[in-house]
Amino acid sequence: MIDEGYTAAGLPCYHTVGIGAGPANLSLAALFESSTTEKIALFDRQPGPAWHNKLLHSGVRMQTSWLKDLVSLVDPRHELTFLNYLVTSGRMYALLNAQFDVIPRLEYVRYLAWAAGKLQHVNYGVTVDRISFDDGFVVHSGGRPLAHAEHLVLGMGSAPVIPDGLSGLPPEQAFIADDLADRLDAMSVDRQAPVAVVGGGQTGIEATMKLLGQGFTDIMWFGRRPWFDTIDDSPAANDVYRPAHLEALQRLSPATRREVIERLNPTGDALTPGAMRILYQANYDVLLELDRFPVTLYPARDVTSARADGGDLVLTCQTPEKHEEYRARYMVIATGRRNAPVPLDDDLRDRVETTDDGELLVEPDYSVRWKGMNGHHIYALNRARLNLGLTDTNLTLLPVRAAIVLNSMFGQEMFKICDELCPVNWG
Ligand SMILES: Cc1cc2nc3c(=O)[nH]c(=O)nc-3n(C[C@H](O)[C@H](O)[C@H](O)COP(=O)(O)OP(=O)(O)OC[C@H]3O[C@@H](n4cnc5c(N)ncnc54)[C@H](O)[C@@H]3O)c2cc1C
Repeated sequence: MIDEGYTAAGLPCYHTVGIGAGPANLSLAALFESSTTEKIALFDRQPGPAWHNKLLHSGVRMQTSWLKDLVSLVDPRHELTFLNYLVTSGRMYALLNAQFDVIPRLEYVRYLAWAAGKLQHVNYGVTVDRISFDDGFVVHSGGRPLAHAEHLVLGMGSAPVIPDGLSGLPPEQAFIADDLADRLDAMSVDRQAPVAVVGGGQTGIEATMKLLGQGFTDIMWFGRRPWFDTIDDSPAANDVYRPAHLEALQRLSPATRREVIERLNPTGDALTPGAMRILYQANYDVLLELDRFPVTLYPARDVTSARADGGDLVLTCQTPEKHEEYRARYMVIATGRRNAPVPLDDDLRDRVETTDDGELLVEPDYSVRWKGMNGHHIYALNRARLNLGLTDTNLTLLPVRAAIVLNSMFGQEMFKICDELCPVNWG
């Protein structure tokens, strides 16, 4: 380096670089900037602020309280609280009086954009395709180095998965839920055509609702589980989403921890309470017009494969008892997401520790162990659900996770994490 701001090669230097500017890294950057004079830069491939924008159908709601914003849980006096966004953008009274149980997702997207706009170094339209190490991390895009940093935080989120058996079909007929909005115009020439929605989670129900709202009259909704579960939002279930439980999980052996986390899945990985009632009522409304339900639910169906046949798709399902086949003109695939690939170069990839399934091995402070780290840390957010708990993949404890990372990165208590008065003794 030749001075504090640039390397000898003219690369801007930062204390920390974050890949991705989703809620995870925005929360980290917000707390970073308010607690140190060091610099953090984020790089995101999106052309501008965005959060699952392709799934922003009108009326969709958050699954998380607005109090669980980017900062409040550890610093409620921070400038970037959701409350400050509401007041300064003039929406406070309108939102309050609309009496939402949970806010619209679009409102959260606007809040994120507002917050990102107040951070110093959030760079959009940059796909990071290589990360190397040369006395610090070097971030590259399109064959060019962009920045140098002491520490690296991976906040790259996830990408939709198409199961092998559902791949290779005509793309105008079989596509992921993210593409539904773009396909609707073409599909709407025949709203009586049968449409299959594969995947019994929140993305599946939202796709089903979207199709119903657009006037489609023959929608088959397939879910693998025995029933279309809604999130367990009971008080005790919510106690899983607090720092006391994160700590308790780390007292368990890895095998027990994994089992406990899997069994806690219904507290988070399920349908938003109320969504099913909205679907049932909308389905009933159309029943009154058509004398039949436009949406049929197919629980306990594992859609294992599909093939093109005479302009249709034929879906093969496995139930606990038998094989079934269904014909559809279109298939919307909402079968989950997997961690976005991390573009470490070969040298760095050889040096990081990974799990048996090739994922980064993430410690309770969200750091990744790697050979030759020499004071340079890599942190990985939203990649270790089965080791660190369900909160790692959702928004419920974003600022707590960011505070844990910053406390570890700076080797001191930058933020106090308070969680007292828990009525549950987790053991
Ligand atoms: C539709 C939907 C709704 C959800 N709603 C909720 C909810 O209400 N409550 C809740 O708790 N959880 C919710 N979740 C789950 C989870 O909270 C979100 O997935 C959340 O976005 C995770 O934040 P993140 O920052 O880790 O990842 P993301 O929001 O996915 O952000 C990752 C960012 O990294 C960027 N990126 C990836 N690779 C690169 C690269 N190579 N170079 C540059 N940029 C890159 C992406 O463009 C993206 O902007 C939802 C998930 C989905 C899919």
